[in-house]
Amino acid sequence: MSDVIESLASKYGLYLCVECGKCVAICPMGEIYTHVSYEISPRGIIERILLDPEIPEDDCLWFCLTCDLCTNLCPAGVRFRDFVEVARQVAIKNGITEYSSFCDGCGTYLYPEHILGYLKQELGETAEELLTLCPRCRRYDFGEKLKAQIPGKRKVGSLEVETGDSR
Ligand code: SF4
Ligand code: SF4
Repeated sequence: MSDVIESLASKYGLYLCVECGKCVAICPMGEIYTHVSYEISPRGIIERILLDPEIPEDDCLWFCLTCDLCTNLCPAGVRFRDFVEVARQVAIKNGITEYSSFCDGCGTYLYPEHILGYLKQELGETAEELLTLCPRCRRYDFGEKLKAQIPGKRKVGSLEVETGDSR
């Protein structure tokens, strides 16, 4: 996998990093997570990838909120957020799935578990319903619930549509 990661590191400018630390200073992860270490900071991950161009098998890639603030501030043009998003897809394709949550309906990747945990903590029970399905499955689920609640047929434009139980 090192060829893929080296190529991503080059594409997203990780080799350009001048270790100024501005990305660490602006990164909001410190406000979201209770324990933040250098290992999960953008600078820490860049350093690690450049020393060992492999997808980390631990969870360091799965904390980033992909807000892109670090990219906007970086004086060297490093696109860390873009790197993380693609590196996560590479990790999932290589079987590293334990740090991600997937849609209960179709299995599409949704969010890192760390972000989901934070959202659940902030939103409480509402999060269960909102964050377990992808937008497409949520729309389908909503339609099914609607059909179950409104029995019989109804007009949608020029069509007559079955909306559930026709008793
Ligand atoms: S802001 Fe850019 S150059 Fe500075 S440490 Fe972060 S990635 Fe490297
Ligand atoms: S994109 Fe990720 S690493 Fe960069 S500032 Fe946002 S949360 Fe931090």
